[in-house]
Amino acid sequence: MTKTALVLGAGGFIGGHLVKRLKKEGFWVRSADIKRHEYSENIADDFAVGDLREQSFCRSIIDRRFDEVYQLAADMGGAGYIFTGEHDADVMHNSATINLNVLDACYKRDAQRIFYSSSACMYPSHNQEDPDNPLCTENSAYPANPDSEYGWEKLFSERVFLAYRRNYGMNIHVARFHNIFGPEGTWQGGKEKAPAAICRKVAQALNGGEVEVWGDGLQTRSFLYIDECIDGVIKLTRSHFAGPVNIGSEEMVTINQLVDMVADIAGKRVIKKHIPGPQGVRGRNSDNKLIKQQLDWAPSQPLRVGLERTYTWIESQVRRNSINEKAA
Ligand code: NAD
Repeated sequence: MTKTALVLGAGGFIGGHLVKRLKKEGFWVRSADIKRHEYSENIADDFAVGDLREQSFCRSIIDRRFDEVYQLAADMGGAGYIFTGEHDADVMHNSATINLNVLDACYKRDAQRIFYSSSACMYPSHNQEDPDNPLCTENSAYPANPDSEYGWEKLFSERVFLAYRRNYGMNIHVARFHNIFGPEGTWQGGKEKAPAAICRKVAQALNGGEVEVWGDGLQTRSFLYIDECIDGVIKLTRSHFAGPVNIGSEEMVTINQLVDMVADIAGKRVIKKHIPGPQGVRGRNSDNKLIKQQLDWAPSQPLRVGLERTYTWIESQVRRNSINEKAA
């Protein structure tokens, strides 16, 4: 029998890549999102466009007993969207409503395996003040003190998912993603995250030109390439382990180092111009001890390999946009 999967948020970055992987594995895939994917053709067997905040829409697409359900839909973006405070009410309301609707519909239709994407943004900000020694072990989550409402919503929703697992015996798995990046993700418009924004700025800069960096650039982060993330998601969802567990890279770099790496890939010399901007916590790094122990999963490639692929894709997008602008 052909296995069936539902990918929610499939018009977005991670969901789009996940659909491709599941199709390669031979699944019958239904996708759903409020919008179609901007950068890749739909290859799902069925793509339902609709609003997951609407319970009726959720019920209409969760109309059978799916073998696997991946819940990736959320109101989210990079630092410029999450940390300004301007979108707090929408982020909390929209994402929490989606999660409550999805869980209820999955429970009613007895979904077999369910994956939920939480975020490293739920970790307490007081453990992430030292850029060289951030603490993001799974058991450091409490006492809770995320630095954004986005992080608070993730914490709430991962608790709801795990409560359904405990109370109703549902086969639910929760991961906390740490900065996933790669081609076919948002790279402009205000919702893009640091690697995409830096690739775009470097691609747009002249050799010897300036690249703007928010803050002093000494804040640290780690970044995980999309293919590695999908491997981790699938492994977790098909395991006996509920999580929550980190899915990220332990290769921590400063934002300045990230800019230097991208410039080197581009073969450009750039001058970093430090300007005020939203930055989030001072330091963050994935701690992969638990996932290594439970699932024997760890990233297989260094940051640079994924950045090379990402830069190539973003550079082609930038070039295509400027050709279109000239033609207009
Ligand atoms: P994304 O923004 O590209 O994808 C999310 C998708 O959800 C979008 O396509 C959006 O249209 C859809 N969506 C939002 N509201 C909706 C609604 N009301 N109805 C239907 N669809 C709706 O983000 P992504 O990077 O692919 O992230 C996927 C998941 O992983 C999200 O839950 C995100 O919070 C989580 N996450 C991502 C990262 C990362 O680095 N990319 C890090 C931590 C957590």
